[in-house]
Amino acid sequence: MSDTSLSTVERKTLRTLESKIETGKQAFIEVGTALRDIRDGRLYRESHKSFDSYVQDRWNFQKRYAVFLISAVDVAENVNHGSQKVVDGAVISSVPEIPNERVARELAKVPEDEQADVWEEVTTTSPKVTAAAVRSVVEKRAETAAKPQPPLKPSYPPYVQEALDNARVGNAIVDDINAALAKVRALASGSGMELLLNKHQAITSFLQSAKSAVSTTIPYAVCPRCKGAKCPQCGNYGWVTSLMSQQLKTKE
Ligand SMILES: [Zn+2]
Repeated sequence: MSDTSLSTVERKTLRTLESKIETGKQAFIEVGTALRDIRDGRLYRESHKSFDSYVQDRWNFQKRYAVFLISAVDVAENVNHGSQKVVDGAVISSVPEIPNERVARELAKVPEDEQADVWEEVTTTSPKVTAAAVRSVVEKRAETAAKPQPPLKPSYPPYVQEALDNARVGNAIVDDINAALAKVRALASGSGMELLLNKHQAITSFLQSAKSAVSTTIPYAVCPRCKGAKCPQCGNYGWVTSLMSQQLKTKE
């Protein structure tokens, strides 16, 4: 047996010691909860004028540290919100606990209404729950939020290509009719043709609006809801127009 191997007794000792460290790392939540109760109940008031001077004198904490511990409790409660169940008298949470202060500190920087989502993502996607893992999830989320949905690449799926072709044909037809109307206009400016001139103007403006209607129906992006799988939001086309893409984004 090489001298790096642990004996059965040593292995047991290591487990016991490690579980003590694990409990100690988690204790910041208990300390934070106790501090918050003392602060909120003003239980320091017999000996101190303020909570700050109490933590400084009694515990030799910087005020900042006490504030952090209390905010860590808020974060922990926030990420556990709605996920706790009482089973046989014990509170069971389906969300993993925040393992240590550094992770809590990182999570406290996230806006309150995003903490639960970030925490869920970290605990389900990161191999190890660390402050760095929290940071990387936050950065990735910021990138995705900042990046607008990219317009369709030149290799469109067939159904999008068909819609694009139709829009192009529609525009070409309108152009042809406009060209024909220009000839009619030349004729209509002759004497005795006022009625034709009036009709001509009406038809021209009708065609103009038809053309702009066509241009707003050109596919712009893969449907952000179904990612092209076709859903009621995109009318089962799998793609959306530029306008719809904006509208779906603001509704999210
Ligand atoms: Zn869709």
